[in-house]
Amino acid sequence: MDLIRPISRYLIIPLMRLKNRSTDYKYLDEAERAQYMPPEAITALQLKRLKAMLSHARANCPYYARKFAEAGFDPEQVTTLEDIRRVPILTKADIQQNRDDMLATNIPREELVANQTGGSTGAPLRFFMSEDSVYRRIANTIRHDRWAGLEPYDKGAAIWGHRRDLNTPRSFMDKLRETFFSRRVILDTSHITDAKLAEFVERLNREKPSTYVAYANAVYLIARYIHQAGLTDYHRPKSVVTSAEVLTDEQREVIEEVFGCPVFNRYGCREFSVIASECEAHSGLHIAADTLYVEIVRDNQPCQPGELGQIVVTDLHNVGMPFIRYRIEDMGMLLDQTCSCGRTLPMMDIVGGRVTDFLVTPEGSVVSGAAMTIYFIARVPGITQAQLVQTAVDRLTLRLAVDEAFGQESKQMIEDSVRQFFGPDMHYEIEQVDSIPVEASGKYRFSISEIDPVAHLK
Ligand SMILES: [Zn+2]
Repeated sequence: MDLIRPISRYLIIPLMRLKNRSTDYKYLDEAERAQYMPPEAITALQLKRLKAMLSHARANCPYYARKFAEAGFDPEQVTTLEDIRRVPILTKADIQQNRDDMLATNIPREELVANQTGGSTGAPLRFFMSEDSVYRRIANTIRHDRWAGLEPYDKGAAIWGHRRDLNTPRSFMDKLRETFFSRRVILDTSHITDAKLAEFVERLNREKPSTYVAYANAVYLIARYIHQAGLTDYHRPKSVVTSAEVLTDEQREVIEEVFGCPVFNRYGCREFSVIASECEAHSGLHIAADTLYVEIVRDNQPCQPGELGQIVVTDLHNVGMPFIRYRIEDMGMLLDQTCSCGRTLPMMDIVGGRVTDFLVTPEGSVVSGAAMTIYFIARVPGITQAQLVQTAVDRLTLRLAVDEAFGQESKQMIEDSVRQFFGPDMHYEIEQVDSIPVEASGKYRFSISEIDPVAHLK
């Protein structure tokens, strides 16, 4: 029985909420209300916050003062959200070259909170957040966790492959927090082996976390292990939240079937925390539009709802180091639909994941590298791991780790699949490897594109 839960729920957390409200709960009530506001009220709130951010950035961040002047952009003339399109896109390289000039000169450096990305594609990105914006992020995360039935006083599992998330400072206060608040059973999935999978299952059985918050591929591998080992007596959580990696339909099916609970997909990144999250209706992801402004663009032109493009995000609260029109290397689309759950936050779909995870056919259509790789692993005999590398618009390298079951039949199935998905003009070669390691970020990359897939779309 979980004895900590009632202590945390009825004593510790109410005390924290009382304590002058300068805690993690500071913005929770506001965030809870925002999800049911009329759409035009959310737009008005975004516009107000956006204008304040733009004016602040010009007045206090040398980088933006320069950038706005060069583009002939005046924050005072902004009257609609669309006006922001006159600000040039911000890239990761821009941040790496201009980091110090992006910091707000009116906020002492020591008041900023440092953070960095895991660097799954290229070098890690170091950046800063204003302390207050951290509380906004926490409130957002709690709000989205609640959609999956996870409360801060519940014991959850973090099935996570990124070491930085796991090696948190171990001060007395940290330990106290972990005991009563943000209670997490942490599984380090940066290196997954069969022995590790057995260990994970055993630990989850013992700790019985109510929800698994997980890297999609890691929790999928755990589910698949349970299924293949024919286990029947294992812990079933009440929900699984997947994030950080592409979740394919096949993976969702396996996870839901094995754990007998719904999967709530989530999209976020270190730079912004939770960006969008699935609710209990599971028909797309609600954008955290009260704290972020999300655009979908292709060649800097806005995409229509339902049209696939690059995700560009503006943080409405991080005044310490403003992120204005930051292009995350991910693909997604806006959805023009209302949700049956009653929440009014606008919706999007992330479709498949990172730009470099997409493959294109010589004819210019998109193939999800993740879906393709899972397809190979699940159906072709003898493939234990696979990674697809696109080196040119008509060239693929199939990196395969295989066992003794791999033979002529497997090769024929690969040939048939390549023709089916990529057409007659795709050339490919098979490169046999011992294993495919995870990236420094702990993520497993299903596919790598060495070309810009967006440039080849038709
Ligand atoms: Zn909904």
